[in-house]
Amino acid sequence: MSGREIAVSKVDVGPAEEELVLRVLRSGQLAQGAMVAELEARIAEIAGVRHAVAVSNGTVALEVSLEALRHLEVVRAGDEVLTSPFTFVATANAIVHAGLTARFADIGDDYCLDPAAVAERLTERTRVLLPVHLYGLPADMTALAPLARERGLFVVEDAAQALGATVGGRDVGSYGLGCFSLYATKNVTSGEGGVVTTDSDELAGLLRLLRNQGMRDRYEYLVVGHNYRMTDLQAAIALGQLGRFEATNAARRRNAKRLSAALAGLAGLVLPAEPAGRRSVWHQFTVRVTEDAALDRDELAARLGEQGIRSGVYYPRAVFDYGCFDGHPQVVRDPAPLTAAVARQVLSLPVHPLVGDDGIDRVGAALRQLLDA
Ligand SMILES: *Cc1c(COP(=O)(O)O)cnc(C)c1O
Repeated sequence: MSGREIAVSKVDVGPAEEELVLRVLRSGQLAQGAMVAELEARIAEIAGVRHAVAVSNGTVALEVSLEALRHLEVVRAGDEVLTSPFTFVATANAIVHAGLTARFADIGDDYCLDPAAVAERLTERTRVLLPVHLYGLPADMTALAPLARERGLFVVEDAAQALGATVGGRDVGSYGLGCFSLYATKNVTSGEGGVVTTDSDELAGLLRLLRNQGMRDRYEYLVVGHNYRMTDLQAAIALGQLGRFEATNAARRRNAKRLSAALAGLAGLVLPAEPAGRRSVWHQFTVRVTEDAALDRDELAARLGEQGIRSGVYYPRAVFDYGCFDGHPQVVRDPAPLTAAVARQVLSLPVHPLVGDDGIDRVGAALRQLLDA
């Protein structure tokens, strides 16, 4: 191994988080309280909406969003949610646990839902469009949002990887219900955590009820709820992180730009792009290793690993392409040829804020040496 190891993602917590967590520990108020409220205010501001509701994790954010839509009868048991097949399994699990049927439209070159494929896959039973803003890049909401409006679909965004990303200046998480994750590998973390954002007073009120046992006033239960609450300890960690939000976003963007320059022109490597109007938060910097490359994707990852450079495959297969969904009555295995092809080629390279210019240069040089054969 040459030089220190460069991880593909790294938790960055410092004195700001320590100080806020200590404040919570010393306050005696460990469960949901003022820190959670402050976090919700900050996230609502970042997503450009009136309400943010903090929950235990990003998967729960998706699940409780769909459950809230069932309460309002926007969607009924067995109705279809159309989403991307190129996503983390949580997206599909949440749809199934909400009692709905998951359908899939293929992705485009941006790794997100292709609006044309979405239009083709809509059925009588489609009620919800659930785009995934993969790798921190927003899906093509300029096309998807009007399509959803015309077809009477409610939009639930899986924005787990995209806090702070924008489309034509509009924030992700502002199109209906926005679901964010604060898991340890995400751009902003609380260890485990999730947030739902919305402009709807009705939905926000319902989400708050569902999060807290259906309770409004003490021991008065309006709906059959859950315990989906976040703790003040977790909120304190995320608030510390958000104090550096602009700086860490800028560092990811700078790293992505530097790495793109270093890799430009290499045969067999497709670099990530930001389509016009869409601003990524560079959760991942994902290249595609095509047949024209000197090494295939897995060999390349192994050779980088020998040099202490970690990489990741997000995701190795279409989300429905697993035994647990085999013959599952709520998961339809719609054909998704581009997803299947891309899943064999994607490789995410380190661009997190702690990599540094020297680290980026090492990643760039290693790839150039391995591929410029
Ligand atoms: C992380 C993630 C989730 C789930 O979030 P958790 O906080 O881990 O439950 C959902 N969807 C996508 C695309 C994710 O990356």
